[in-house]
Amino acid sequence: MIKNKQAPIIVIGAGIAGLTAASELQKQGKSVVVLEARDRLGGRIFSQKIGHEVYDLGASWIHGIEANPIWSIVQQNQIQTTVFNYNESIYYQSNGQLLDSTGKLIFEQSLDDLLHQFKEIDQPERYRHALHALETWLNGQEFLDHINNQFHLDKNAVIKLQKMLLDFFNLLAEDPCASDLAHLSAEFWKNEGFYPGDEVIFPQGYVQVIDSLSKNITVLTNKVVECIDYSQDIIQVLTVDGEKFSASQVVITVPLGVLKKYHIQFLPDLSQQKKQAIQSLGFGTFNKLFVRFNECFWKSAEYEQINNVYIHNQHRWLNFLDMSEIYHQPTLLFLFGGASATWLENVSCDVVWQEIKQSLELIFDEIPQPIQLFKTEWGNDPFSEGSFSYQAVGHTSDQVGILKQPIQGKLFFAGEHLASFGAGTVHGAYESGLDVVKSM
Ligand SMILES: Cc1cc2nc3c(=O)[nH]c(=O)nc-3n(C[C@H](O)[C@H](O)[C@H](O)COP(=O)(O)OP(=O)(O)OC[C@H]3O[C@@H](n4cnc5c(N)ncnc54)[C@H](O)[C@@H]3O)c2cc1C
Repeated sequence: MIKNKQAPIIVIGAGIAGLTAASELQKQGKSVVVLEARDRLGGRIFSQKIGHEVYDLGASWIHGIEANPIWSIVQQNQIQTTVFNYNESIYYQSNGQLLDSTGKLIFEQSLDDLLHQFKEIDQPERYRHALHALETWLNGQEFLDHINNQFHLDKNAVIKLQKMLLDFFNLLAEDPCASDLAHLSAEFWKNEGFYPGDEVIFPQGYVQVIDSLSKNITVLTNKVVECIDYSQDIIQVLTVDGEKFSASQVVITVPLGVLKKYHIQFLPDLSQQKKQAIQSLGFGTFNKLFVRFNECFWKSAEYEQINNVYIHNQHRWLNFLDMSEIYHQPTLLFLFGGASATWLENVSCDVVWQEIKQSLELIFDEIPQPIQLFKTEWGNDPFSEGSFSYQAVGHTSDQVGILKQPIQGKLFFAGEHLASFGAGTVHGAYESGLDVVKSM
């Protein structure tokens, strides 16, 4: 219901959720203006040309192309993609030895069994914390019997497997949850929001999806919204530069991290219930480190096709992806989530490299000096304040429902954190952009 025909609908944020909402509203013949804080479009989709190549510093993957709406956009616009599945992996143990095929089978099967338990969890109150649930299962008789019946391991091998699994779950909490196991709800895996099918990436950048969506939409950049006054029929949107925009309705798609930090003031203030939902939903940090070399020192003839490597060193699994084919140069991508992502932001690339080198030295005799390193800092970014949402301990779908609830038919909310399927992903954000328009 448009309150005033003169004033447009204002969408705050030109990420995928905001642009999708704007595009849908425009299709309905509505007048729409998008206000974006940065000098670029795309938000957490951020493709940057460095040298001759385009690097995705935010989202890289379409998580499963079957029935994925992002894949439809890609096909309609004939955007080039490359299949990059990372389910074929190799694992190095802390003694530097590669897990052989039997060891790998035992490890991956036990991992699957545990993930299955997270999906099937039927007593969420008993197992509120993912860490608590995992420790209970790992040490429980049921798991030990299961391992013994299937794999006939001796006591020391079981202890080693338990440790490897516990540390690996910490890595799973980092990616795809941008958090640490101790902060995750035990139900985190129940609502996994990936589509089936191949995972694909964009050699020329994810931003091409944004370019397709934003055609013919009015986006004003460098407009940092700091206040939304919805006390009158006509809503006033104010920027830090003192500009004032009038709107009939406002769709707010800024990241949850920005809402948590109260960077935008609401007049009147948001309800206590909404503020509580904002603070209760999890929003974590996830960062990337790209390291370029002159030579592929990590390749062996046997594992020529493997692009996903894990190294267990002390209490941590280090994970890197071989991106050399995409970037036409030997390149490794290291992924960091939760506390390690925050650490990454607050130290120099040299310090990070020295730390990583210690793990690589367990495996490789000679590690050449990288020719270039660069990292992302999504947690330090005032227009993101983190990377994506996750299911924190105590998470309920009610909290998402409360935050999604429009206010007086004037204010509407969208963004990846409000997705009913695929929170924390591009497709989730896209679908929340479609959903919000249905509610207007
Ligand atoms: C490192 C990283 C890797 C990722 N990898 C993947 C992946 O491989 N696949 C996948 O599916 N997803 C991935 N994601 C998640 C995905 O990028 C996000 O879920 C999605 O892009 C979020 O879209 P959005 O529109 O909800 O938010 P955003 O893209 O963040 O858009 C919100 C917009 O609001 C703007 N804004 C903020 N504050 C203000 C203000 N005060 N005034 C005006 N504008 C403001 C921001 O600048 C931004 O443009 C990744 C994210 C990160 C950070």
